[in-house]
Amino acid sequence: MIKLRYHHLLCIYYFKGYGYDEAFVENMKDIKSRLYDENIMITSSFDDLCKCCPNKLNDKCKWEEKVNRYDNNIKAILKLDENTTYKYKDINTLLNPVISDNHRCHVCDDCEWSEYCK
Ligand code: SF4
Repeated sequence: MIKLRYHHLLCIYYFKGYGYDEAFVENMKDIKSRLYDENIMITSSFDDLCKCCPNKLNDKCKWEEKVNRYDNNIKAILKLDENTTYKYKDINTLLNPVISDNHRCHVCDDCEWSEYCK
C-alpha cells in the first residue's frame, strides 16, 4: 500500500524527474512506478513521499501552512475520504477533469514547482 497526502496526487501526476534532492526524486520515481499496482491510502499528514523529503522536520513539514492549504484545496475538489484506500485508476478518473480544466491553478499556484506542472 502507498500512502499519499491529498496534494501529492497532483505532484506525482505531474512529476517529471525534478525534486528537492536525489533521494526525494528516486523515491518519487519508485512510488510513481507502483501507483497502478498497489492500493493508495489517502492522508492529510506525512506520507510515503514525505519520508525522503529534506523539508520533513520532526513533527511537521517546513512548509506546513502551505501544504495543508494545498491538501484542503484538492480534497474539496476530489472529495476522497481520508484514511481510506483507493485504486489509482479511480483516483485518476477524478483527477483528469481537474487537470484538463486547469483547476490546479486554484489548488497550488504559489508552489515553487508550479512551472513544471503543465
Ligand atoms: S515539502 Fe512537506 S509535504 Fe512536501 S514532501 Fe516535503 S515534507 Fe512532505
